Amino acid sequence: MDIKESVRHELRAISEHIIDLSHRIHASPELGFEEHQAVTWTTDLLAAAGFDVEVGICDLSTAFRARVGNGPLHIVFCAEYDALPVIGHACGHNIIAATAVGAGAAAAKVADDLGLTVTVLGTPGEEAGNAGGKILLLERGAFEGVDVAMMVHPAPFDALAPSIIAASMFDVHYTGKEAHAAAFPELGVNAADALTIAQTAIGLLRQHIRPTDRIHGIVTHGGEAPNIVPGFTSARYMVRATELRELDELRGRVHRCFDAGALATGAQLDIIGGDRPYAEMRHDAVIGAAYRRNSERLGRSFAPPSPAVVRMAASTDMGNVSLRIPAIHPSIGIDSWPAVNHQREFAAHCVTPTADRAVLDGALAMAWTAIDVARDEVTRKHVQGLARGSAEAG
Ligand SMILES: [Zn+2]
Ligand SMILES: [Zn+2]
Repeated sequence: MDIKESVRHELRAISEHIIDLSHRIHASPELGFEEHQAVTWTTDLLAAAGFDVEVGICDLSTAFRARVGNGPLHIVFCAEYDALPVIGHACGHNIIAATAVGAGAAAAKVADDLGLTVTVLGTPGEEAGNAGGKILLLERGAFEGVDVAMMVHPAPFDALAPSIIAASMFDVHYTGKEAHAAAFPELGVNAADALTIAQTAIGLLRQHIRPTDRIHGIVTHGGEAPNIVPGFTSARYMVRATELRELDELRGRVHRCFDAGALATGAQLDIIGGDRPYAEMRHDAVIGAAYRRNSERLGRSFAPPSPAVVRMAASTDMGNVSLRIPAIHPSIGIDSWPAVNHQREFAAHCVTPTADRAVLDGALAMAWTAIDVARDEVTRKHVQGLARGSAEAG
């Protein structure tokens, strides 16, 4: 039997468990860095598939490494499993965890024949927006010696190289001074006014930024009562731009809007976080082309990017991985349009039969892509050259 068909066979044999994993994670959403149940279920399945499993790597209790084989070509499938506050698995990370397990278990069967080391890396807290799990794992060495990193992310449509831009998330704190809002307002320093001024300044700034930039945030604390001059307010903001370089510049301008709030009111400003931004994604074209061929063989299609796909601007800590290691992060369609990621309606789509098919297709397409990388000398040299080159470049 053809090696790809035998891998398909392997995956089919465990497909029920893979789908069950996707559904279980979906039914019990856990926030970033607290995904204990998801990690237990995911690693149980990997252990059953013959992987050596280590949970709690790199000082992250919900990160794990599951490894099979010891060949010279090291391929990592990244599993995410964190959910969003309130709206649960509205980014479909249940599908990501399940595809990574499926791909890993399928590729594991041919690891020795193809000279592969296969790792499924459990990467927590992708939705964190700053210092996400993959950034911490990169800093702490979890990707050392890795030649290729792959994952697929659910989306309304299949897209080979979705636009993934740099992002920074940070908290803003204003500390003013409480006072009776009617009797002695002149004794107060209004921390809510500081936030209002900052938001107004950001609103005006929007006229003068690139169409590809994004600034968005929420007020996380607005005050205590209308008859108390707010002595403390806070907000959480994200700033995004096409690349880290542009992000740095934009972030400086947004920070000055927050400075303006402090200056005008006399409240004290503290900006917390934003120190480890998400990088733009560099999709590896050679691995991507293999993934595309494999997906198409499964009957999936990659329409020319529609205006909606082109203007889409998401961010992920996989971007940081991709600047160091050849990587792919295609979108896998679950036919949810007009429901899009980060909506309750999208969460509902992430356990439909279409989503389940995406789990199995994504897993198989990634496993087949690993086979292509291993068997094609040119591709193998391409990824190993890039991975080593970037390691040497630091
Ligand atoms: Zn998301
Ligand atoms: Zn996501």
